[in-house]
Amino acid sequence: MGPGPSTVPARILKAISSPTLGHLDPQYIGFMDETCDMIRQVYRTENALSFPVSGTGMAGMETIMVNLIEPGDEAIVMINGVFGSRMKEILTRCGASVHVVEVPWGQTFTKQQFADAVTQYPNAKLLGVVHAETSTGALQDLSGVGEIVHQAGMLFAVDAVTSLGGHDVRVDDWGIDAIYSGTQKCLSCPPGLSPVSFSPRALEAIDQRKAPAQSWYLDVSLLKNYYTGGGGRAYHHTAPINMVYALREALAIVLEEGLDARFERHRKMHLLLREGLQKLGLQYIPENSLHTLNCVAVPEGIDEAAIRKRLLTEFDIEIGGGLGVFAGKAWRIGLMGESAAEKNVLTLLAALEKCLP
Ligand code: PLP
Repeated sequence: MGPGPSTVPARILKAISSPTLGHLDPQYIGFMDETCDMIRQVYRTENALSFPVSGTGMAGMETIMVNLIEPGDEAIVMINGVFGSRMKEILTRCGASVHVVEVPWGQTFTKQQFADAVTQYPNAKLLGVVHAETSTGALQDLSGVGEIVHQAGMLFAVDAVTSLGGHDVRVDDWGIDAIYSGTQKCLSCPPGLSPVSFSPRALEAIDQRKAPAQSWYLDVSLLKNYYTGGGGRAYHHTAPINMVYALREALAIVLEEGLDARFERHRKMHLLLREGLQKLGLQYIPENSLHTLNCVAVPEGIDEAAIRKRLLTEFDIEIGGGLGVFAGKAWRIGLMGESAAEKNVLTLLAALEKCLP
């Protein structure tokens, strides 16, 4: 019940231990195609280029930025926590001049703030924002933002690491051009892959690059042949076969439950936890809280690390401490995928009641 990884169901652990096929084996290619198709379904997109990057969420973030940005480009990043700051860091390393729009940690951005940002920095090529800021537990409303960004002629890039599989992520409806996530949060799969999706508009921007992407490994103009079959399934790098088995199983579980039913389960578990935490006198930090990551303030005079240690050693429950600005000041309780269960919520509340003075 920390900020990820979440509990991995036995079905997925079993899938990952299946015999390792070759990355060009027709049977494996079939599994991979199914995986890409399910990635499209959970992102609610028709984007042809939707695939699992070989690497964790940060590899997904780098894939998006390194392909869409060239040295000398301008970009806008909306920062309200750790992961927005990382986007800025990566864009800077890609050679972009980065304009930052910042609100205090725990807050989110209004549509007006997006509109003001694109007006203030009209030459930016891309605007990036985090949908689910794991460091603060804030959920960013993205509906209508794509239109604002597109009207300004920019690309819309989104981090969905802590939302995919736990909150609705509507890539096509929200006009998202490039998005990445991770396997170990609300998909309840081990860490190791990053499902990404690129819109046709993003692919056009990649085609128009003046120079190839600085990263060969993450260059989607090379990777797309393997993942979409264009120009044959040419070898690029050896796919992490067994991780793809795991992701395929994880996505199948998500779709068997049904996206809407799954989001509703996360919402219900969040409300149950919220009610219990509030009865214990704990306050949520963000106004617009994620269901998947519950960030509460540590009351004055409490040694937050000591409580976390007791929860782990006496009750086998892992929760997260604060990150960055919130270090020592917050607990971050994950309700992600398999972990978003009534048994977990009630056990944690009982254990917390015992541990809090
Ligand atoms: N973005 C967000 C919002 C995250 O929460 C994380 C990880 O917690 C990442 C990016 C990076 O993902 P990873 O640690 O899988 O590389």
